[in-house]
Amino acid sequence: MSDIINILPDSVANQIAAGEVVDRPASAVKELLENAMDAGATQIQLIVKDAGRTLIQVIDNGCGMSDSDARLCFERHATSKIHKADDLFAIHTMGFRGEALASIAAIAQVDMKTRQHDAELGTQVEIEGCSVKDQHACSCPVGTSIAVKNLFYNVPARRNFLKKDTIELSHIEEVFRRITLIHNDISFTFHSNGKLLYDLRSDTMLQRVCQVFGEGYKEKFYPVEEESDVVCIKGYVAKAEYAKRSRSEQYLFVNGRYIKHPMLAAAIEKAYTDMIPEGSHPAFFVSLTVDPSRMDVNIHPTKTEVRFIDESAMFAILRAATKKALGQFSLATEFEFNPSTEFDFTPLPKGYVPVEPKIDYNPTYNPFAGTHDTNKRDDHNRDNWKNFFEERTDDCTPSMESLVKQTNVPNGNFDSTENQEYFQIQNRYIACPTNDGLLLVDQRLAHERILFERLTQKEKAVGGQQLLFPVNCQFSAADADIMDEMKTELTHSGFEMQRMAGSNVFVVSATPADLNDSELQEFFDTLVREFKGAMMEKFSDRGTKIYMTIARRMAIKAEKALQKEEMRQIVKDLMECNMPAVAPGGERTTTLLTADKIRQIFVNL
Ligand code: ADP
Ligand code: MG
Repeated sequence: MSDIINILPDSVANQIAAGEVVDRPASAVKELLENAMDAGATQIQLIVKDAGRTLIQVIDNGCGMSDSDARLCFERHATSKIHKADDLFAIHTMGFRGEALASIAAIAQVDMKTRQHDAELGTQVEIEGCSVKDQHACSCPVGTSIAVKNLFYNVPARRNFLKKDTIELSHIEEVFRRITLIHNDISFTFHSNGKLLYDLRSDTMLQRVCQVFGEGYKEKFYPVEEESDVVCIKGYVAKAEYAKRSRSEQYLFVNGRYIKHPMLAAAIEKAYTDMIPEGSHPAFFVSLTVDPSRMDVNIHPTKTEVRFIDESAMFAILRAATKKALGQFSLATEFEFNPSTEFDFTPLPKGYVPVEPKIDYNPTYNPFAGTHDTNKRDDHNRDNWKNFFEERTDDCTPSMESLVKQTNVPNGNFDSTENQEYFQIQNRYIACPTNDGLLLVDQRLAHERILFERLTQKEKAVGGQQLLFPVNCQFSAADADIMDEMKTELTHSGFEMQRMAGSNVFVVSATPADLNDSELQEFFDTLVREFKGAMMEKFSDRGTKIYMTIARRMAIKAEKALQKEEMRQIVKDLMECNMPAVAPGGERTTTLLTADKIRQIFVNL
């Protein structure tokens, strides 16, 4: 028998662990910024070169470290933030695992200068490959400056996996936003390759949102505020008219930390029911304060998922608070004109723990029985009818896979001549009675498919319209570079634009028809954001993604009254598409309610 187990040397163990904590420059940026905040800094500078590949430097004016702490902090499990297991249930700092600096030191060359308030001199430590190469006294300002150089210099596999600079930089920007938005009492600057990208002074939360996203944001939000024993809520929710097609501007924070919590985000979205079109999402910046002992602390430090003991109470409170914010500020005028508007919000007293309401319905309810004399009944009937109908159609409509494979829509002997009847349902759907049944077309999704195929299948560029007055669109430095990257696709789609030399402004001189001048900036902002998102999700074909976004943005709205001729054109163009049955995003464009299915509706009650 021979022993085969050995203990890994620290340098190897740290390098392995580093993979979990630091997987790209943005995660090192997050750790360093969090440390600076934990040190009580009021001013923090972030400097990166080559999207963090060659340099990530964070300079803070926090508490600094003593000579020996300056060495010790690079050891694994070296932390000043917890001392015993019980401390885990009352964490008030960003970090506590004592892993970040050890991990960073394992995969980069680190140069740190630090000085405590009462020390005359600071200390400088140089680290390479996990070990201290040099330490000596130095003069430096109070606080800490950590420079992380040549990230992954000793882990070629990781280095080679890094994406283009524009993509890595946008990850860093996102980390920076997630931190700076909620720490509005701290000043931050952010330089990339010598260029100042952000200069944020300490200000109110709303001001900080504007500093990060643009002055225009001031008009777009309502404040939301609520205090209860379970959770305190403070923040801003967007006015319904500013809803967007993506969720990219939804920021939720708990105890000063950005989190992802789909259920709580849904609570906010639920408050907008019937106020914004389906598929649109409100932006929000909402900060929650929760007793740390009521949340799961055992979460991975680099992950953003969190669990709460009082999740369903939080859901109800958050939804009610958002409703209140929207109601107080936007329904106010409506109230005056329509005093009978029902409004189901009642203020929550402190100490009250609501439960999520259950939907109560009678499964044996017969929509055809009884009278239809009150409005309420009618609503009931409609809902029941809808459920029933959805169940039926889902049973008999083909699966997504078969739809995607399908090259033709089941058009039920649709008559493409002048004789075909068209009518519109709720300004959303085009209905065509055919020999075999009723063909239903979702006008927006159908139009998306048509535009998408026009953009992707034509060799020749789609013709644009010259603008009478060119429009200037302004971007951050990083976003402007992304605009450059998308140039081919944009030109192909009918845009003509020129980047002003040495600036981040694009002068747009032509656009595809149907695009309003005033919508251009938002159009490009959405495009840039979705492009970044797609790159992060490793979307295989960037061209496709860009055209998908353009098609989606230019398609007619879900709620738009159409003339008969317009309906005819849409249905005809759709039929001529290569893949008419599905929208570029994968949604079904059409469904045929065959006479058979209609019959079943009536016989199988
Ligand atoms: P953690 O933050 O989980 O404690 P880190 O590895 O990030 O672990 O940092 C280790 C320790 O180094 C911290 O607990 C803190 O005492 C010290 N430290 C790190 N960065 C700074 C800084 N910018 N200013 C002062 N102290 C710092
Ligand atoms: Mg830390």
